[in-house]
Amino acid sequence: MTIPFSHNDSGPTGAAPHCGDDFSADEGCFLRVPPDHALPISSTDTSGFRLLVTLGINFVIPVVQIIGGVMANSIALISDAVHNFSDFIAILISYIALRIGRKGVSTRHTFGFQRAEILGALLNVAILFCAVIFIVYEAFWRLWQPEPVSGGLVMILAGVGIAGNGFSALLLYRDSRNNLNIRGAFLHMIGDFLTSLMVLISGAVLLWRPWYWLDPLLSFLIAIFILKNCWTVLTEAVAILMNATPRELDLPEIQKFLESRPEIISAHYLHAWNLGNCGIAFTCHLTVADRLVSDTEILAEKIRHALFRQFGIDHPVFQFETVTCGNGNMLCELSGQEQPPKTPSGGLSSPAPVYRKNGYRIFGWTSRIILGLIFIAAGIPKILYPAEFAAAVYNYRILPDALVNIVALALPWVEVLVGGMLIVGVWMPGAVMIYTLLMLVFITALGYNVARGLDIHCGCFSPTSGELISFWTITRDVAILLMSLYLFFAVWVKKIFLPYSRS
Ligand SMILES: [Zn+2]
Ligand SMILES: [Zn+2]
Repeated sequence: MTIPFSHNDSGPTGAAPHCGDDFSADEGCFLRVPPDHALPISSTDTSGFRLLVTLGINFVIPVVQIIGGVMANSIALISDAVHNFSDFIAILISYIALRIGRKGVSTRHTFGFQRAEILGALLNVAILFCAVIFIVYEAFWRLWQPEPVSGGLVMILAGVGIAGNGFSALLLYRDSRNNLNIRGAFLHMIGDFLTSLMVLISGAVLLWRPWYWLDPLLSFLIAIFILKNCWTVLTEAVAILMNATPRELDLPEIQKFLESRPEIISAHYLHAWNLGNCGIAFTCHLTVADRLVSDTEILAEKIRHALFRQFGIDHPVFQFETVTCGNGNMLCELSGQEQPPKTPSGGLSSPAPVYRKNGYRIFGWTSRIILGLIFIAAGIPKILYPAEFAAAVYNYRILPDALVNIVALALPWVEVLVGGMLIVGVWMPGAVMIYTLLMLVFITALGYNVARGLDIHCGCFSPTSGELISFWTITRDVAILLMSLYLFFAVWVKKIFLPYSRS
């Protein structure tokens, strides 16, 4: 699921909005089905046959899959169904939101109800998140104690999913080459198609061999896939609710564009935000030479057209001034950031604000290097002595036997890779998250076995060192965890709350 941002992804081609135009919710926009399974239906065609068909398909498939999943005792099938059902909810929400959006504006709701769809998307994320917790919980216990799964039934019901998702993808294929939104929906459908295909293959394997741990393992993968989609929707919805500058807009570029016009002396206090799923609002102050008010109307009309053509801005408001007010910077003083006054030579006036002091920077940099070195030092001996490390993992008596060798082989490489990424600074949000999660897993495993009094080898660094698990090893890991938590918050808080900063 994604929420499309731009007013019109194929570039604004319609007439530029006039001041007296009605900027209603659905004017010039597609029905913004969060383009899961979206159909290119114009707002005049919402009760159309194609939407009903899509809604029908996407409702029947997950219901059949959930019933079948319970009968076949397959958590992977249920996970696939949960995802498919969330797609149905997403379409339903945008359909309802479109209806609500048609209520238009009132003195109480002067912006209309366009953001109802954003609230709906957040609700869907919340429901999905609960479903993922259920899936992970179930899958964890089944990984521990695998239960028999009916491979034949899994294959049949995964086949139903393949047919439905494949059919939806086929419906979208023709338009997906011309429209970015529909292309996104098409790619999502391909992802759904492949998920169902994986479930089908696992069903076939289960018919052949009783590897029942395969089923919960697959549902973990599907849960990750669902969470990734949730994350995209969540960040985009929060950005809209926070009135963030639309991702595709570059405010300094717009300022430059406005100031390049001979009539405009300065453009300042720029704001741009998404009204809802479509439509970009924009306000700014424009300093011009003293002139008749009727003259500024002609100028405003020209700028309006230019902004629409160039940036897709369809709801601009200008304030004309003859003397630049306030400090005349690009960003409004209301934003709370103190900025140096504009330089007389002109040019871009807002250097990126400093969000963190240098001391924090050095501390963050040091922790990255230390944490990275720790993981590399821990990973390499395990790669060199795989058999000894597998024995150490086995002795923890937490993983099912079938997974011990896979984990013992993969974990050291993950450690070295993540450690290297931290040091080099590649894909920090992901690396820091994996690091923190791994530390939590290690501490849980250590704590569990210290608590039940097992005297086993730690296997923390070199598997041949013979170090035993103890309160000391736990304390050491907690210290490492605290450092990685610091990095986690430093990276993620900045990513979530300041996604548009240029620092
Ligand atoms: Zn989907
Ligand atoms: Zn001003």
